[in-house]
Parts: sequence; C-alpha cells; structure tokens
Amino acid sequence: MKIYGQDEFTVLFSRMKILEQVEAIAKRIKTNFSNQSDGRPILLICVLNGAMYFFVELTKMLSDKDILIDTIGLSSYRNGVDSAQIITIVKKLDIDPRGYHVLVVEDIIDTGLTIQFLRNLLVEAGAASVQFCCLLDKRPRRMVQVDIQYVGFVMENDEFVVGYGLDYNGRYRNLPYIAALHPRMYKK
Ligand code: 5GP
Repeated sequence: MKIYGQDEFTVLFSRMKILEQVEAIAKRIKTNFSNQSDGRPILLICVLNGAMYFFVELTKMLSDKDILIDTIGLSSYRNGVDSAQIITIVKKLDIDPRGYHVLVVEDIIDTGLTIQFLRNLLVEAGAASVQFCCLLDKRPRRMVQVDIQYVGFVMENDEFVVGYGLDYNGRYRNLPYIAALHPRMYKK
C-alpha cells in the first residue's frame, strides 16, 4: 500500500486487531489489579511519544479503576566512541514514583535497553514494584533479557513499523493501524 504518494507499507495489524489486543490487556490488568491487596492506585507511565495512542486507549478501558497517570520522555542515541546506547530523560515524571506499584506502557520493545533503563530508574526512585506493558514485542534484536508482563503482539521479524503512535522521522503516527515500512524506504 502507498501512502502520501511516496512511502510503501504493508499493514501488519489492523485497527480492529489492535483494539482487540488492547481490550485483552486491559482485562488482564484489571484482574491483577483486583488481586493486589494494598489498595494504593497504580501509577501508569506513558513513554512519549510512541506509546501515546496505545496509552490513551488502554487507560480509557480502565476507567473503573483508581489509577494515576504520568508521562516520561526519553532520547536515545549511540555514543560515537564505543557505540554504546545512551539514553537521557527529556521529560521527567511529574509524580514521585516512591512507594507506587508502577506499570510502564511502551509502544515497542526492540533491544530492551529502554525498559532496562526505566526499570533501574524506577527501582532507584523507590517504586514498590515495576511492571511493563508493550503493544509490540520485537524480538530479533533483543540485547538484554527483560520481563514484560503484558504484550499485545509478538513480532518475529526485524521490520520497522509505523502507525498507531509509531513514527518514521516524525511522520505516520496518526495512521490508525500498524504497518511495516518497506526496507527500501529506510535502508540506504
Ligand atoms: P529499545 O530500547 O527496546 O531498543 O527501543 C525501544 C524504542 O525504539 C521504542 O520505544 C521506539 O521508539 C524505537 N523503535 C524500535 N523499533 C521501532 C520500530 O520498528 N518502529 C518505530 N517507529 N520505532 C521503533
């Protein structure tokens, strides 16, 4: 499929399929939420910008639950010297996570370095527990072992996806489905 007359996509997950998965995740969160005894609201954290669409849809499905929501913004780049991945915070949390059971909501987990960074950050900040939820679990490039409690879709192929919040150079976030960008578009 061609969009905006230039980039080529293959739709992987339709809007209907995404909504089904978000609903299934919301159900599981609700069940686990009910089993949790200390009665404190769970702090849900949206990792900006990619998880925005997923986060909004998911939290609306938890409208009967006592939750707090917050956002964090990260920037990630490769160190020119040793090629290590450097992750920095560009938008801090507004809520102090100390003592909260935290659920981090990510768009896609690829190498796993981002959520490893977030886990360390939240544990050091004194969160009571830290869990992860992602819409897409892209496994072929995983570099660190990570525990993800809620997964929408598993991707076995190393494809670059856009849509439903995910961008390519800032574009395509507003597509209502998730599509794989043709490698010709980003491999030079
Ligand atoms: P990780 O630290 O797990 O390697 O990377 C996670 C971040 O990389 C995601 O939050 C996302 O911003 C970006 N990312 C990884 N794979 C893709 C992809 O296929 N499409 C897009 N748009 N972003 C991706």
